[in-house]
Amino acid sequence: MAPPSILDYRPISTLVRVEHKVPKAKYPAIDFHGHPQALLNSAEGLASLKASMDSLNIGLMIAAENQSGDRLTRTLSLVNASPLKGRVAVFTGIDLQNVGPGWAERAVSRLETDIRAGAVGVGEVGKQFGQTVRKANGQRLRLDDPELDPIWEAAARLGVPVFIHTADPAEFYKPMDMHNERWLELALFPGRRITEGQVPFDSLMAERDNLFRRHPKTIFIAAHLGWQANDLAKLGKLLDLPNVYTEVGAVLYDIGRQPRAAHDFFVKYQDRILFGKDSFQPEEYPYYWRVFETRDDYFDYYRDYHAFWKLYGIDLPDEVLKKVYYKNALRITKGLPQAGWPK
Ligand SMILES: [Zn+2]
Repeated sequence: MAPPSILDYRPISTLVRVEHKVPKAKYPAIDFHGHPQALLNSAEGLASLKASMDSLNIGLMIAAENQSGDRLTRTLSLVNASPLKGRVAVFTGIDLQNVGPGWAERAVSRLETDIRAGAVGVGEVGKQFGQTVRKANGQRLRLDDPELDPIWEAAARLGVPVFIHTADPAEFYKPMDMHNERWLELALFPGRRITEGQVPFDSLMAERDNLFRRHPKTIFIAAHLGWQANDLAKLGKLLDLPNVYTEVGAVLYDIGRQPRAAHDFFVKYQDRILFGKDSFQPEEYPYYWRVFETRDDYFDYYRDYHAFWKLYGIDLPDEVLKKVYYKNALRITKGLPQAGWPK
């Protein structure tokens, strides 16, 4: 018999294990990396978002969708007139196009206006920053470009956190061959490949770390565990910078495959890790709750192409869960409603 293709081979595990499904988070969670998108545009959308949030125990969602100006005020007035008032917060964005003479004054004044209008932070600064965004003079905009200093300093002065997504997973930059851990995903979704001529992953990480180091008074949150969840020692070095936080969206496959190391890491950096989910798929949140809250063995991830391995629960203590789910987000985001959360 010919061996099956990797797509066809779906063995059913014979391992008999105890299962603890967790449909609802143990404590109300703040989704720091929310992308509710069109659900915010209408009363019906907001009602459906509320139903999902209630059933999952998401206490608050941050729309990290760069809403500025009229779009921001429109969203805030719809939310405030809905039953989700106080349960959706909105981040503003920075227009990084054409950085050059006069850019900083415009960007800072727009940021001030949006914060006054009710935005509680900045983000998500997208992965194009560092990769494809160009300056007015045509050069690539480096993450640590000094012309951006005034905007990061303004965020510090206004007391708002900056949520930033840098780069793609490191494997996307490596040759697509039988040794690449993301080969299957890249084969199924060719658009995710980083084509030649792009900035190397390690350079982007170095520029990002330099940006964070240059602005010690600004609070930065690196999305997706900084794409370093597969190297927790390196991620730990980043979190040793006192102004840096991180968020767990879309990297559950790396947390759940190293339950002992991840448990110890979350305990050590319990004040620096925030819950966030990224794309809004209500049925996927319970996988996060299960990894964080149980000690279950060997269960499926919600997609079979990010990772074709199984997950394990990391069994976080209650106090760590509370910090990751909501306490850390409340502490660094002063504009969020601070009352009504469990002690
Ligand atoms: Zn995102």
